Parts: sequence; structure tokens; C-alpha cells
Amino acid sequence: MKKVHDTEICDGCGENKILEERDTNEFCEDCLLVVDILKKNPHLLQRLCKLTKIKIPSAATDNDVSAKSPRDLPDVLDAVRYRTRDREQNTWYVSISEIEGDPVEIFASTAFDRDHHLQSRISNLTTITRLISLILRHVYLDEVLTLDKTLKQLMRSSRQKNDLPEMLSNVLGNYRKNQDKGVEK
Ligand SMILES: [Zn+2]
Repeated sequence: MKKVHDTEICDGCGENKILEERDTNEFCEDCLLVVDILKKNPHLLQRLCKLTKIKIPSAATDNDVSAKSPRDLPDVLDAVRYRTRDREQNTWYVSISEIEGDPVEIFASTAFDRDHHLQSRISNLTTITRLISLILRHVYLDEVLTLDKTLKQLMRSSRQKNDLPEMLSNVLGNYRKNQDKGVEK
């Protein structure tokens, strides 16, 4: 289990907190507590809600979320690295992580990481590969996709203030439901 020490959006409650990885999700301390209790006793939530007359929104019990449990992402993965060139003859290295032959993550890097002119292109490429990886983990590992996860990957792709991934995450962030007030649309 890997610890992530920056505060970021929790996949559970959506709040900005210190996160810990669990079953391809990242949860805060409070959500992890609930997850661990429910894992041990899956019927507890229903029973407690019934006893206390707490009404849970039906989305929480939708079977599309609970039907499949995601495959764990192991700490060590096999990866294949490809060397390739873009139209301007810059060399890029593309790595595909595999589980049993299935692609589950894609990374791209260049030897010219410090090159100032490449910064915006690197952040755009990072955006693409991070979002593809999210999709791949959904396709092959049954990771549940959420808006918050999409936003998190966009924000992690940003390398400079107001670059394209940050711009996109700011606009899309207006649709976060658990934020009290969105910015002007
Ligand atoms: Zn949380």
C-alpha cells in the first residue's frame, strides 16, 4: 500500500485531504475507516441506516458500482518501453505497464524534460496519458470512474500556472456536486 502525502481530492468524500491508495482508489482517513468497516461487515450500512432512519441516496446502492470489485493494481508491474519520434523528430519514450498481457497504464517521457519550449507539450501529453491510463484501469481492472478522478488527473498533469490541463480542470471543476458554489459558468 502506497502513501500519498499531498492533500488532494478524496475519491470517497471529495474533500481535500491526505490520501492513501486502496483498490485503485485514493481515500482519506475517514473514508478508509468506513471502507474497512464495510469490508468486514457489508450489511452494516443497510442495518444502521434502517435503525437510525438515515436515508441514503439510491445512487449509493446502485449495483453498477458494487457489482464488480476492482482488480488490485500490484506494487510491481511489467512494462514495455517503446522509443518513438514525433513529426519534429523529438525522441519520446512510451512505456506501457501490463498485467497478464493487458495494458493498464501508459507513460511518455522525453530526454529533453528540462527544455522550456517543451513544457506545455509535455503537460499536454501527460494529460493524454494520465486520462488514457484512467480509462485502461477502468477497462481492464474495473476501476470505477468519477468526475473527481478525472479532475485529479488533469490537475496532476499541470506543470505551469494556467496551462491547458489546469484551464480544463478549472472549467470542469464547476460541475463538482459536493462543492457548495461553483465559479461562474
Ligand atoms: Zn474521504
